[in-house]
Amino acid sequence: MPVRSSAAMEIFIRSERSHPSTADRAQAQDPPLPTLDAVPELPEVEITARRLDRALSGARIESALAPGLVALKTFDPPLDALAGREIGGVRRIGKMLAVDAAGLTLLVHLMSAGRLQLFDSRSSLRDRTSRILLRIAAGHELRLREFGTQQRAWAKLLRAEQVAIDEAVAGLGPDAYPVPPPDDFARLLDQPRHLHPLLRDQHTIAGIGRSWVDEILWLARLSPFQRASDLDSEALDALRAACDEALGGALDHYERVIGDTVPDKLPMPLRVHRRAGEECPRCGARIEAIHFKDYVMCYCPEEQTGGRVLKDRRLSRLLK
Ligand SMILES: [Zn+2]
Repeated sequence: MPVRSSAAMEIFIRSERSHPSTADRAQAQDPPLPTLDAVPELPEVEITARRLDRALSGARIESALAPGLVALKTFDPPLDALAGREIGGVRRIGKMLAVDAAGLTLLVHLMSAGRLQLFDSRSSLRDRTSRILLRIAAGHELRLREFGTQQRAWAKLLRAEQVAIDEAVAGLGPDAYPVPPPDDFARLLDQPRHLHPLLRDQHTIAGIGRSWVDEILWLARLSPFQRASDLDSEALDALRAACDEALGGALDHYERVIGDTVPDKLPMPLRVHRRAGEECPRCGARIEAIHFKDYVMCYCPEEQTGGRVLKDRRLSRLLK
């Protein structure tokens, strides 16, 4: 990869000066930890990888730090082995990000509230969101930050040849986008499990989570509780097309609306998820929600569950 000129790099750098809220937060005496509600899934991680790749390919890492020690899950090679290496690129693996740097790869899982972002200045030591910092030439910094009180985002520094066999990567199913060919897709889904958990199972198909699964099932007009192995070929085709439309459509949307830096809160183009009580954009029926312990499933009863409205988890078990 050619080394980009610093002028070219400037174009892609997130400026803290133009984001006063971030700077204010870092300087505040005892600021409340910000929270995010949009969990990054395939389209969000992919647009992050694309933007970081564009900005960072060819850049040299000056030093690497892990202020949030618990986020770094490996110790060999040590994090400072990254110092002096040139970044070859940034890519997505399932819902993870991989920063490749001359024989080493920093594998990052954002979990629900992590963000990997490039800044044009170095992190304040008071920034409690900082987990991993890669200092790049000219004062820039690639930061793994995490919002909220939980520390779940993680990173592993691996030798390049270890990436494919790492447990977080080796167990992944095929990527959900581009969607696998019809025969492969049918084979993956030939399991006696409900569609909603099955599509979110990264071992079955990689990249889909709690937001996009609602959109996919709504597009396919399928119940979240439909047993996957009972789908006929028409339903499988509809589901496959829905994966393509939801994930590809989201990526196209992000390419249009997101500039050179990815914001903390992504403008997710959701039509059903988190829209309980609103009108279904297709048929006008009321979007319903089922509340689970730590997430909400949204659907259109008119088009997806034969008119049946499911109020809670206990009731949902009764529906096959
Ligand atoms: Zn509807």
